[in-house]
Amino acid sequence: MKLFKAKKGVIIPGKKDDTAKLATVSYTSPEYVYIPLSVKGNDFEVLVKPGDKVKLGQKIAVRKTGVPLVKHATVSGEVVGTERKNHRTGLPYVCIKIKNDFQDETLTFTPIDFEKATKNELIDRIEEAGIVGLGGAGFPTHAKYRGAENIDTVILNGAECEPYLTSDYRVMIEDTFHVVNGLRILMKTAQAEKGIIVLKQGYKEAYEALVKECAQYDNLQVFLVPNQYPAGWERQVVYRTLKRRYEKYPYECGVIVNNISTAVAVSEAITEGKPLVERVITVGGEGVIKPGNYRVRIGTLASELIKQAGGIAKDLGDVRIIAGGPMMGVAQKNDDFVITRALTGILVLLGEHKYEVPHKKPVGDVLLDVLHFSEHDPRFFIRDEQPCVRCGSCVFNCPAGLQPTLLRDAALAKDEVRLGKLDVMECIDCGTCAYVCPSHILINDAIRRGKTYYQVKVKNTK
Ligand code: SF4
Ligand code: SF4
Repeated sequence: MKLFKAKKGVIIPGKKDDTAKLATVSYTSPEYVYIPLSVKGNDFEVLVKPGDKVKLGQKIAVRKTGVPLVKHATVSGEVVGTERKNHRTGLPYVCIKIKNDFQDETLTFTPIDFEKATKNELIDRIEEAGIVGLGGAGFPTHAKYRGAENIDTVILNGAECEPYLTSDYRVMIEDTFHVVNGLRILMKTAQAEKGIIVLKQGYKEAYEALVKECAQYDNLQVFLVPNQYPAGWERQVVYRTLKRRYEKYPYECGVIVNNISTAVAVSEAITEGKPLVERVITVGGEGVIKPGNYRVRIGTLASELIKQAGGIAKDLGDVRIIAGGPMMGVAQKNDDFVITRALTGILVLLGEHKYEVPHKKPVGDVLLDVLHFSEHDPRFFIRDEQPCVRCGSCVFNCPAGLQPTLLRDAALAKDEVRLGKLDVMECIDCGTCAYVCPSHILINDAIRRGKTYYQVKVKNTK
């Protein structure tokens, strides 16, 4: 039940300067890696046992149920066994623990000439290389292409609209060849004629590098979207670039969307025969000493990477550690969680923010500050919740055109009928409603729980 026209986005300070200009640093020698399987763990067939020697890139587990998913050893060394470690979702996952021998003995595939390969050969390689959506979704990439028909355009999404995150930006600058090569491979896989790379207006250096690299192909385009949040939302990306709309998935309107880093992983898997064993991730926020982008092995502990980034500043008091961006990421209890393939960033943000009334400021400005209309800072929405003042800001700004305040009420009341009528499943969990709420109500938090409740209820009544 959408009553309102969806708004295109809100302006949020990017806070990207600390990391955007710095070259990516490699940290590929963790002492242990923990390859996460799932919460239950028994939906995977584990191909190794404690004591086994493994090589970097060796297949160690395959998912038995649902969409196939391959997991690889991301260091060479010895399998220790399985252990539970926190995942970015906050849930304890069963992980395969491997002790690094620091030899990096590697297993690779035979490179494929994609111009001559068939669609199925390319899809099979993408599956075998364990490639998933690296923009945060984590959905197996091969599943998007298997059975996809009538696709005319592949879009690479490099909009990276969340504050602080700059890993895709650095990848576009430092790995331009693989971005464009990956796009061409994906176009061949989907049998699409056109490829579009989407990035934000502020990403000047990356834009110039990509335009230069794409100039040799007349079916590739680089497209800029405004510096708004959530400009990287798939629906907005498809609409802005092609003026097309779809119900559930982009393939309904002839489009497949992949993240920039996913395209790089595809290019490396096809052209160089490398499985997905590492990724670039942003470590940022005011609480970390040396913010930057780091190339890390999947399964490295966040605590170890934060240590590489100089550790957490001591004089800041309480900090909040977020897995992902400040808008859609998940706050963690501590830094003891695993870096997964789909994790785009680790943020160490300041804790509770006390608002000191600036006595020299005009009363009107102070009021605007308190209502946080003038100081749009993502960490501000962690203040205590106040009663809803019915301002309608959350409704007006919801990019999906939903009614967040009513959805929250329905979620708190555990009313699955109203949740359904209010289209709870259309919520993209972007956090805009919580961000704009002057009463600092964690609206999307309640809606997220309402969504889970609705899914369970609907599933059980079918
Ligand atoms: S989190 Fe959901 S309800 Fe809130 S603004 Fe985003 S899409 Fe709308
Ligand atoms: S933005 Fe906050 S205060 Fe305003 S209507 Fe929504 S929930 Fe209420």
